[in-house]
Amino acid sequence: MISIASPIIGPEETKAVNDVLASGVLAQGPKVAELEAAFAEYCGTKYAAAVNSGTAAIHAALYAAGVREGDEVITVPFSFIATINPILMMNATPVLVDIDPLTFNLDVAKLEQAITAKTKAIIPVHLYGQPANMDEIKAIADKHDLQIIEDACQAIGAEYKGKRTGSLGNAGCFSLYATKNIMCGEGGMVTTDDEAYVTAIKQFRQHGMSAQYEYVDLGFNYRMSDLHAAIAVEQLKKADGFTELRQRNASLLDEGLANISGLVLPTIAEGRSHVYHQYTVRITPDFAVDRQTLVSGLKEKGIIAGVYYPKTLHSFPHVAKFGYKIGDFPAAEQAAAEVLSLPIHPRVSEVDIQTIIDAIKDISNAN
Ligand SMILES: *Cc1c(COP(=O)(O)O)cnc(C)c1O
Repeated sequence: MISIASPIIGPEETKAVNDVLASGVLAQGPKVAELEAAFAEYCGTKYAAAVNSGTAAIHAALYAAGVREGDEVITVPFSFIATINPILMMNATPVLVDIDPLTFNLDVAKLEQAITAKTKAIIPVHLYGQPANMDEIKAIADKHDLQIIEDACQAIGAEYKGKRTGSLGNAGCFSLYATKNIMCGEGGMVTTDDEAYVTAIKQFRQHGMSAQYEYVDLGFNYRMSDLHAAIAVEQLKKADGFTELRQRNASLLDEGLANISGLVLPTIAEGRSHVYHQYTVRITPDFAVDRQTLVSGLKEKGIIAGVYYPKTLHSFPHVAKFGYKIGDFPAAEQAAAEVLSLPIHPRVSEVDIQTIIDAIKDISNAN
């Protein structure tokens, strides 16, 4: 079977965890500090603060950005729900902007009209591993004095004009969940150049504590354990190698799947690199069969394809209640109906890629 995601755990990760177990320091400790320093260096930022999920990273970053009750935060309706839920956790209002159909990222042409006097921050999502249009977003954010929190959970190592994600806004949020490009089971990270951010995030992840048992504000237990950090330290060393394999697989799929009627391949916009958390095609009405038939046909041949995401976020009641209805974001809704992600992760071999290409051609009768 060719799976859609599969973590790579080597002897380095196992040894690192065993060393932490032997040390007796299991909760947040020196391994977390080591990971934070390495992560900041990798992303090209001054600081990084570890938390225990990507969701916690976005929540903590919004807290540090000063987002509070009644503020508006702009983001997209086509992402994982964890992009929006932290906005709701701050009692702020999510204001959604449609996506660009080519890159699946925020459509910057529609951004400025969504800004009001209450807007505090923008969360661009680097969906599937391709950075959003950060120059345009930054110009608009600067003009209106807004904070930018990157949702880089799918985009570790991706570059925009030579700079890595996580260093492109006021803060960058990463996930180390088991299926992400690098992982530690569950984990998260916020990167920033702003000392005020890192101070606020470290307070927020530890019950709002400024000093031992001094609670200056509401906080959570969002700490990462040293056991998790030990895995992530080893994974981070392998990040670029993993990315190269993803990019190799992507270019083989680009070649092998070119010119199949109704199959739209990924587009990389100018000035950026794609780290292919997902290799996502569109199955349009011109394709030989519908998306579900293709998914089932691939599964029969031992290939697991995934739909990320089958529904837009404004279709769910707790988001729709802000006044959204189906029809509001046509590009996002069309993407939800058409996207299909094919196996691309580093354990997918060149032989596997050929199997995927042959299977799709077979199903579409294009060979
Ligand atoms: C994975 C992911 C998150 C959340 O990360 P968790 O570690 O699962 O909490 C947020 N946004 C996007 C785009 C993601 O892919």
